[in-house]
Amino acid sequence: MGADDTRDPVSAILPPMSVSIQFLGAVGTVTGSQFLVTAGDRQVVVDCGMFQGAPEEVSRNRMPFAFDPKSLDALLLTHAHLDHCGRIPALVRAGFRGPIHATGGTLDLAEIVLRDAAKLQEEAENRWRRKHPDEAAAHDAELASEEAAVEDDAQMPAKLRSAPAEGMTMTRTALYSMADVEQTVTQFSPVAYDAPLTLMDGITATFRDAGHILGSAIIELRVTDEGGDTTIVFSGDLGRCDTPILRDPTPISHADFVLVESTYGNREHAPHEQAIEELAQAINEVASDRGVLLVPSFAVGRTQELVWVLDELYRDKRIPRLPLYLDSPMASRASDVYLRHPEDYDEETATLLRSGSSPLIYPGETYTNEVDASKGIRTQPRPLMLVASSGMLTGGRIMHHLKDFLPDPACTLLFIGYQGEGTLGRHIQSGAKVAKIDGEAYPIRCRVRVISGFSAHADEHELDDWLGNFAKAGGTTGGDGRPKRVFVTHGDPDAAEAFAVRIRAMGMEPHLPTYLETVQLR
Ligand SMILES: [Zn+2]
Repeated sequence: MGADDTRDPVSAILPPMSVSIQFLGAVGTVTGSQFLVTAGDRQVVVDCGMFQGAPEEVSRNRMPFAFDPKSLDALLLTHAHLDHCGRIPALVRAGFRGPIHATGGTLDLAEIVLRDAAKLQEEAENRWRRKHPDEAAAHDAELASEEAAVEDDAQMPAKLRSAPAEGMTMTRTALYSMADVEQTVTQFSPVAYDAPLTLMDGITATFRDAGHILGSAIIELRVTDEGGDTTIVFSGDLGRCDTPILRDPTPISHADFVLVESTYGNREHAPHEQAIEELAQAINEVASDRGVLLVPSFAVGRTQELVWVLDELYRDKRIPRLPLYLDSPMASRASDVYLRHPEDYDEETATLLRSGSSPLIYPGETYTNEVDASKGIRTQPRPLMLVASSGMLTGGRIMHHLKDFLPDPACTLLFIGYQGEGTLGRHIQSGAKVAKIDGEAYPIRCRVRVISGFSAHADEHELDDWLGNFAKAGGTTGGDGRPKRVFVTHGDPDAAEAFAVRIRAMGMEPHLPTYLETVQLR
């Protein structure tokens, strides 16, 4: 596409604007994605995700926004994972009333994820109030001053990573309510892939398929005025090539600036076939021990792919038929959303669905939407499989199950997603013998397994391939298409630094932003 295709006559006469970006999350850590772009007097935020980690650091989600939510012009959302969308209702609660642009698939999933988050926070707060009835009343009065005391702190990502890993099933106060989510969804504004959207005079956004979860997008933000074009590409979370259900990440060949995720910037995934074999082994092991296979996972994304693989393994007689519990207030609706968006599938999946087969249903699956049903899983006949969130053991329903199953040698805790530094998940994955939950120590006697091949993130080679596209094709603003600078985001430091070395070797200039840093782009 040429540079002038999306330029309208009005924006062409705008006087040159200064453009800057501020890094408000997902730097030095994999959670809390939030980037503020200021062009002239306009402000656009890309992603507004939750910080996830040890309970104390999660209170960082309460800190005031770095900009005035009331005057923010628009929010662009790359995808529906909580670490990218989880603070949106808090932004709305703080007064943001502008449009929230994302693909239809993302908005349908985000609605579920945010309702899920509000409900889980409500459950956690109710638990806290039941346990501390006397403090609860006094606490309400304290809260306002406490919230004000959570200040911006440039060291926050480092503290998140080094916090003592522990889990909680309680929070003193929910970040937002279901009413805030209701207001949020009224601001949703769906966009189609590959169709430039004019946000305001001189500023357009184009969403490209990121192949990470349903509806996920890479966002190209372009500022056009008398000063020329400036294009900033936000990778969002990049998916993998050749995985089931979704298309591959879109190659892009021109940008002035790129923000690229680096979750697996220093690691290679095992092949998908090996991941499937390892999963079959884990299931057979649990089946013969009459145990429980506990899989921490986002309710959307990997869960649907896992169900797909389980169905295939069962049909191929590689695993016995074990009951599968999908434990989340909204899990059943997440799978419905997948079925409603066949336009987002790769060709293989689309063909399967057209033939009348539904690969997203495993025979013997049960959704546990309510708390009581969730708690009842512990007494169900074994063996069984259980998928619950959060994926890094930073909260959610899985915390209860850990109390039951960590000390049980017949059980297997199976990690299929990235475990961020400082999370309870990383602590256990690294070989801890004890896990602290609600202040109590639980011995870890279950098996702990890790399968990397189901990751929804590009690995180091796939990241190199995607970024390498910028160096190949000719650019649109007279350059060779290579970005002036590549901001390495969404990674723990080792991963981001390793990726930066390779970016330099590709002939591009890497920049590892710090939390709250502002960079002038022009
Ligand atoms: Zn994601």
